[in-house]
Amino acid sequence: MKALVYHGNKDIRLENREKPIPELNEALIKIKYTSLCATDIEEWQYGPLWIQSETPNLLSGKMAPLVMGHEIGGEVVDVLNPKNRNFIGKRVAINNILVCGICYWCKSGHHAVCPSMAVAGLSADGGLQEYMTWPVTHLVPVPNNVLDKHISLSEPTTVAVHGVRRSNIKPGDKAAVVGCGTIGLLTLQVLIASGVEVIALDIKEENLKLAQIFGAKEVIKVVPNDDSLTEKILQFTNGIGADYVFETAGAERTPEIAINIAKRGGTIVLLGIYTRKPKFDFNQIVGLEKTIIGSVASSINDMSFAVKMIGNNKINVDPLISSTIKLSNVIENGFAKMLHKDKNIYRILVDPS
Ligand SMILES: [Zn+2]
Ligand SMILES: [Zn+2]
Repeated sequence: MKALVYHGNKDIRLENREKPIPELNEALIKIKYTSLCATDIEEWQYGPLWIQSETPNLLSGKMAPLVMGHEIGGEVVDVLNPKNRNFIGKRVAINNILVCGICYWCKSGHHAVCPSMAVAGLSADGGLQEYMTWPVTHLVPVPNNVLDKHISLSEPTTVAVHGVRRSNIKPGDKAAVVGCGTIGLLTLQVLIASGVEVIALDIKEENLKLAQIFGAKEVIKVVPNDDSLTEKILQFTNGIGADYVFETAGAERTPEIAINIAKRGGTIVLLGIYTRKPKFDFNQIVGLEKTIIGSVASSINDMSFAVKMIGNNKINVDPLISSTIKLSNVIENGFAKMLHKDKNIYRILVDPS
């Protein structure tokens, strides 16, 4: 079977691999679609950043070369343990994060920072192949009304759910979302579904149009070096500022914008992954008693909640699918396209069959 394998910086290869064989508590999954995410492109161009490349991961026992792809939907076609036979034929979203369950952080419920964490596509073989194996405990069955092509989008939705959960935001609060790419637009939808009023900020008209369709109360087009942003936010928030700001762009200047537009005493949730080191004035945080929260990955229940929200039509992932391609041309029609600076791409789905 075909698999897209990460060997190192700027070195990904389409290879032929043996179909994997499940271990006792694993399932064999036929992949329906795996979506490409900016993280994949960053690993290719600037990595290895998250991809395990020096020592094998403690939980998976794996390191590069690894099969890429961490946003995965498929169907269980086999299990080894007869106890798990009820999984066969089920369509599932892959909860791509394995944690040890025994460390200080896992025991205190903070699974997203388990030091032994293994992630499919980063520290274990992922979904850019025809079949993969994964523990049945980490398969989230998908309701019948969810289309095959929507399943893999439950992974970025999980990231959004986790960020909103970390913030402790309440219905009726006012939030700003800085950056309306895939994670931003999903965060915005999770917030709106939670009864929060959202102001969306982005530099691209097209992203703001979608933000509006998804229910943003206000949208603001960000122009580089525009000093009036804080003023605009104040206008929309009765002169107070945003109660919460979710930074999802991961750009050099966006954390500064996020901190500036949060109200005095407000909270900023950073969901972006920064390839360049942002600069900002820490006195903004000290003097105005703002709180900054980092959010990455997910906790154990975040994905089942994400799948439920997609199933209940609270989250619309369909407009976030920009194209569907075959695994055989994933490098030229997927990775190379997403690298383009002016790309208007949210997610590209890869069909590995
Ligand atoms: Zn991703
Ligand atoms: Zn742990």
